[in-house]
Amino acid sequence: MDLTTITEVIRRPSERPGPEWHEGDAWLAGGTWLYSVEQPHLRRLIDLTALPWEPLLRTDQGLEISATCTVRDLYAFAWPTHWTSGNLFRKSCEAFLSSFKVWNAATVGGNICLSLPAGPMITLAAALDARYELWAPDGSVRFVDALDFVTGDHRNILAPGELLRRVTVPEHALRARTAHRRFALTRLGRSTVFVVGTQRAGANNLALTITAGTTRPVRLAFDSLPDARTLRQCVDDVPDGLWFADPNGTPDHRRHLTRYFAEEIRRELTAGNLP
Ligand SMILES: Cc1cc2nc3c(=O)[nH]c(=O)nc-3n(C[C@H](O)[C@H](O)[C@H](O)COP(=O)(O)OP(=O)(O)OC[C@H]3O[C@@H](n4cnc5c(N)ncnc54)[C@H](O)[C@@H]3O)c2cc1C
Repeated sequence: MDLTTITEVIRRPSERPGPEWHEGDAWLAGGTWLYSVEQPHLRRLIDLTALPWEPLLRTDQGLEISATCTVRDLYAFAWPTHWTSGNLFRKSCEAFLSSFKVWNAATVGGNICLSLPAGPMITLAAALDARYELWAPDGSVRFVDALDFVTGDHRNILAPGELLRRVTVPEHALRARTAHRRFALTRLGRSTVFVVGTQRAGANNLALTITAGTTRPVRLAFDSLPDARTLRQCVDDVPDGLWFADPNGTPDHRRHLTRYFAEEIRRELTAGNLP
């Protein structure tokens, strides 16, 4: 849609965007959400996609994903076989309710910063213990765990003018065993719940990350695989106010699905541990 209040678009921002930011500005990534609804409070767009940020970078610590990496590029990445979480990356990209245009233009950073409960890049990053690098307009940098970034439906910890520069997924998470379950009302529908279980290579722990069903990611962590009753109780203990309500499902429906999927994930990871 035409954004009729926009008077300026900065196509080539400085290599360290931020100091030029003022009220009425918005960072422009793929634009798939920015251009899909009215933005009467905005006057200027600053295009991040023009910046020469390497989309994906393997390092000794793990994988660095630039905020401007597109979902398409993430999907096309050639995963080394020892990075056992590769399948979760693919499934998270496929979880997008996306048209051809969204699939090709949407970025990892745009999805995370939009902070919708059904943001699949949020699911992926939170489940894999990712950390975010945030740049403030005054030049300062801070790091935050993906689990702590989203605070509610369409809400996060970004301060005015702050931007997400990159997502770092640690090596141990890339090598983790993963099991996931997702439910949507229709085959290509928006996620009602998206639950991921991870287990460190050679360990017996369980980290269960609940997303889409809750307004922000919720982590249930166990040093060793819990029994079914304990796990169910922990899901039931998630505060009522965190379960999300929208046309894709009531809070009760989402809690019910999460209980069910959590148990399936527990069994899947238990089976993999049998001698
Ligand atoms: C048909 C359709 C289906 C969709 N399905 C889904 C879905 O299933 N799940 C879902 O979560 N969303 C969905 N969306 C919403 C949106 O398209 C996606 O969330 C997409 O990933 C947003 O990425 P983008 O790069 O296009 O962001 P943009 O639209 O460019 O930006 C989104 C927001 O994030 C801010 N932003 C972007 N990059 C940064 C950055 N690096 N630092 C700080 N702020 C930044 C922008 O200022 C803006 O507020 C859908 C949209 C459409 C039109």
